[in-house]
Parts: sequence; C-alpha cells; structure tokens
Amino acid sequence: MTAYLDHAATTPLRPEAAAAMLPLLSDRFGNPSGVHSVARAARQALDEAREAVAAALGASPGEVVFTASGTEADNLAVLGAHALGGGTAVCSAIEHHAVLHSCRAVGVRVAPVTAEGIVDLEGLAALLDRAEQDGRDVSVVSVMLANNEVGTVQPLGAVAELVRARAPRAVVHTDAVQAFAWMDVSAAAACADLVSVSAHKFGGPKGVGALVVREGVALAPVIHGGGQERDRRSGTHNVAGIVGMAAAMTATVASREETVVRVTRLRDRLADGLLAAVPGAVESGNRAAKVAGSCHLRFPGVESEALLVLLDEAGVCASAGSACASGALEASHVLKAMGVPEDEALASLRLSLGWTSTDDDVELALKAVPEAVARLRGG
Ligand code: PLP
Repeated sequence: MTAYLDHAATTPLRPEAAAAMLPLLSDRFGNPSGVHSVARAARQALDEAREAVAAALGASPGEVVFTASGTEADNLAVLGAHALGGGTAVCSAIEHHAVLHSCRAVGVRVAPVTAEGIVDLEGLAALLDRAEQDGRDVSVVSVMLANNEVGTVQPLGAVAELVRARAPRAVVHTDAVQAFAWMDVSAAAACADLVSVSAHKFGGPKGVGALVVREGVALAPVIHGGGQERDRRSGTHNVAGIVGMAAAMTATVASREETVVRVTRLRDRLADGLLAAVPGAVESGNRAAKVAGSCHLRFPGVESEALLVLLDEAGVCASAGSACASGALEASHVLKAMGVPEDEALASLRLSLGWTSTDDDVELALKAVPEAVARLRGG
C-alpha cells in the first residue's frame, strides 16, 4: 500500500477533470483564436471554462487571465504590476520562490513573520512607512493566502487594509495556490487586486494556472506575442488544461466544506498521534491557523532526507521543508523566517493530506514515521 501524503506538492487528477479534458484532446482540438467551426468549438469550451473559473474565484470572466502555471501567474502579478508602478516590491518572508524571486528581481523589502508562521502586521506597517519615507513608492505587496510548507493562513484582509492606508498606490497580490483546495478564495481574497491559483493543487492538471486581475488594475504583460487574454498573456491557449482546471475547481467547490471537515479530522489524528509517539517531536506553526491538509513536524536529531528515504521504503510519500541546492542541504527559508534553528529546520517532515486521503493513509504514517525516526536515532 502507498500512502500519498504530498498533496501540497501536487494532487491526483479528479475524474471530473479527466473526463472534461478528453474531448478537447481529440475532436475539439481547435485553436480558439480562429474563426472556423473547429476553432469555434474550442472557443466555446474556453469561454465556458472561463465563466466557471471566474465564478469559483469571485471574479468576472474578463478578470481571469489564464497562465501556464501558478509560477507564471505569480511572475505576471509581481513583474506586471511593478513594470507600471516602479519603486519597490514588498512581500512576506514566507512566500513561495515564484513570488520571492520575482520580487527580488525588481527590488524587494521583505516583511517579517511571527514564530507561528503568520506575517507580522506591525513589521509590515513599519516597512511600508519606511519605504514611503525613503521616497520609494511601493508598487506591489504580495502576501500569500496559505503557506505551502507549514500551511498557515495569512491575515490578508488586515494586510490589504494596511496597504490601502499606508501605500495607496500599491497593488495587493495574493498567491492563493495552496488555499483554493481548502478555502473560499472568492471571499478570502476579495480584498486583493491580483490572485494566483494553480490547477494541479486541487485535482486539476499540471501546467495550468490563472491570475485574477481586478477590473481597473493595470498590468504590463510579461509574455509578448499574439495578444491572447486581452493582451495580458500571449500564447495559444491550453484549452484542455484550462477546461480541466475549471472542472476541478467546480468539483472542489462543491465538496470543499465536507472535505475540510473530513481532512481536518484525519490531519489532527495524524499530527496528535505522531507528537505522542515520537519523543521530542515539535509541530511547526500554529495548527489553529493552518489549512486542513497541512501537518508539519520536526524531529530533532533526524535528517529529513534520510527520513524521506525510509518512509518511501515503507510506502509513505512525504516531503521535507528543505531544498537541496548545490549538493548542500539548505534549511527552508520559511522555517528560518519563523526563527526555527537551522539544525531543527533540517529535521522537518511535511505530510500534506488532500481530497483522496483516507484513514488507511494516516494509519500507515502513524506506524511508519515513529519506526523510521527510531531507526535513524539508532533505537
Ligand atoms: N505558489 C505556491 C504557494 C505553491 O505552493 C506553488 C507550487 O508548489 C506555486 C506557487 C507554483 O505553482 P506551479 O507548480 O503551478 O508553478
């Protein structure tokens, strides 16, 4: 048996998405920018998908820009807003690299986070004030809705209020890539000017995303070409992928409340069970502020990479909060920003549940993790 506990990395394709995509990969293969009947059939599918995506995100169809990933949506938001606004970008210290590196490319001031993994609002306010005092207009402020490593939900409403009061020319962007599976993004991100999502995090196909660009928000294109997406993102549409994303969104919204209740129970059983079974185990971030699927633990004295290998042998697919850069194991920037000591950050395990998770998955992890940790500790 395999327990797939890596939903934050990617999720299995929902059957609704697979079924919706198939006709677009065969009979309805047209380029939706054309004028003839085959093109029009693809255009109709694209238009319907746009309406469904807009409804799920609380936007109007004209506000949806389809992209080839969450990464691209984040790049378009930051680089596109900055190109017109100038000045400096601001983001939280726990953003995904798609945001963090885009912000760094244009010049960024990074807002601190608390030990619980929540953006420090006082720190953000001080940073916005300093930027304005320095005569550096803030072009874009990017704070994610839910973090991809520790799962913490950020106080986006309060962030937007701060920005409107202290840096009124700035555009507010939120990366809702990890949030959509768990939260009503249409309400939670209503205060943002720009909202990114990615299909493969909620049962859609990989390589498709979207950026909501609210009416009246100016954005320069990052990808130039044929002028698709009302000149905001050129490139022939991935119609099948977009239709798959729309179907996955609709299915996610329809079952979200029930899934959140079910998965919260599974996650709590998993986290509580492991904290009780593994001596010295520490939970990262404030669980009450996390999305339902997120379980992030640290096992001091155990190297994450070795733990992942043993868990894989035992049939548990998980991930670590660290990245392997140039051969050396690097502590995650998220845990560093939360003040977690480096050696502990390198002892992290992220178990992320999702719409297919079951009691059996939790059972297997509750057995495999304590055994693997004990083995690595020489027990
Ligand atoms: N933003 C967050 C918070 C993510 O977790 C991810 C994926 O890991 C991305 C952006 C990038 O999305 P994609 O994989 O579609 O490029």
